[in-house]
Amino acid sequence: MSLIVAKFGGTSVATPQRIVNVAQRLVDYSTQGHHVVAVVSAMGKSTDDLVALADELNPNAPARELDVMLSTGELVSMSALAMAIEALGHKAMSFSGWQAGMLTDSGHTKAKITEVKTDRLIQALKSGYIAVCAGFQGIDPLGDITTLGRGGSDTTAVAIAAGLHADVCEIYTDVDGVYTVDPRLDPRARKIDEIGYDEMLELAGCGAGVLQARCVEMARTYGVVIHCRSAFSNEPGTIVKELDDTMEQAIVSGIAFDKSEAKVTIRDVPDNVGVAARVFSAMADDAHANIDMIIQNLSENGQTDISFTTPLADLARVRETGEKVVEELGAREMVVDESIAKLSVVGAGMRSNPGIAAKMFQTLADNDVNISMISTSAIRISVVIKADELERAVSCLHTAFGLDSDDLFEETMLSREELAAKAAKGR
Ligand code: ASP
Ligand code: MG
Repeated sequence: MSLIVAKFGGTSVATPQRIVNVAQRLVDYSTQGHHVVAVVSAMGKSTDDLVALADELNPNAPARELDVMLSTGELVSMSALAMAIEALGHKAMSFSGWQAGMLTDSGHTKAKITEVKTDRLIQALKSGYIAVCAGFQGIDPLGDITTLGRGGSDTTAVAIAAGLHADVCEIYTDVDGVYTVDPRLDPRARKIDEIGYDEMLELAGCGAGVLQARCVEMARTYGVVIHCRSAFSNEPGTIVKELDDTMEQAIVSGIAFDKSEAKVTIRDVPDNVGVAARVFSAMADDAHANIDMIIQNLSENGQTDISFTTPLADLARVRETGEKVVEELGAREMVVDESIAKLSVVGAGMRSNPGIAAKMFQTLADNDVNISMISTSAIRISVVIKADELERAVSCLHTAFGLDSDDLFEETMLSREELAAKAAKGR
């Protein structure tokens, strides 16, 4: 008997039928003798609808009110799931963030969890209930409702799993695990059976959308084992956990990419002490921009170029601030390239295997892909390339690092009933 925390994303509970499917899965677990806590996101895209509603009424809606409104999506799905479980003849009780003891700071719309008081959940489990918790929400020291930031339900699930010392935190989603690369870009992508926290964090941080970096980070801190899998099949997905260091690890586990950034270059900046500090403090303090890869070129005639990448979402502010900085420092100009992509290869085995960077760059060169920026960590190599060369670059690297699967990926977004119907037809 074990304690399972199972989180279901918006698509997994998007319709009444899907909620019934989730309920059935939880009841099956319970019948097998497991303790079960479910964590749910809002149904389908309902959080987007709530954001749109708020925006229509007030584009600068107070964050406190926004949180109250956004928290309602999960209240609907949690009570709906509890009802569906009861309809199957099993006891269930739903818990909002505050009822579940999800304590946070007061950072409305991006609150951080400070503590999980699990007494009520434990009580419910002991009394034979399946507990159903609202993801994404909590309560601050004033008693006000908070939310954890978009996609925050994964974090809720990991926090509850940590608080309850659960055996596993299952994260059910619309894909059946973590792939060597997004299968929509390269259908030869292969599902990864097991991956370490560090590699998963690098992949998530570099654009792999399947798990949030924040939830993986929390899982690593508390040693929570994550099982990321599909709500539409019974196939095992990907286990994220601490991998044994003594074991041989994959040199390259996966490839991630990100098309949501732009490259900014400030040309001919006078090469004086404190210039980089000035540029990046302006970007942080005035533009409130996230800055990623940074390159400062070799100085020539006392002048240098500084390049960096920044999310497209921050670009308008970066442009404005950049113009001022160019003027202030007496640089020549600022150039922005929006059609770039960042491509990263990640693997724990890189630590002990030299020549991975060389192989990566050679493969890209052989395939006529030009690299404009490079950055690395101990287990990651990232390059910036032209956006329209991304597909070619991913595909040749995927092959070069031996990641190709023999089977082509086929998207299955079918419910159990639909799968059963399909199977019956084939018979
Ligand atoms: N419903 C919230 C969102 O859409 C939280 C989540 O799905 O994790 O962002
Ligand atoms: Mg989500």
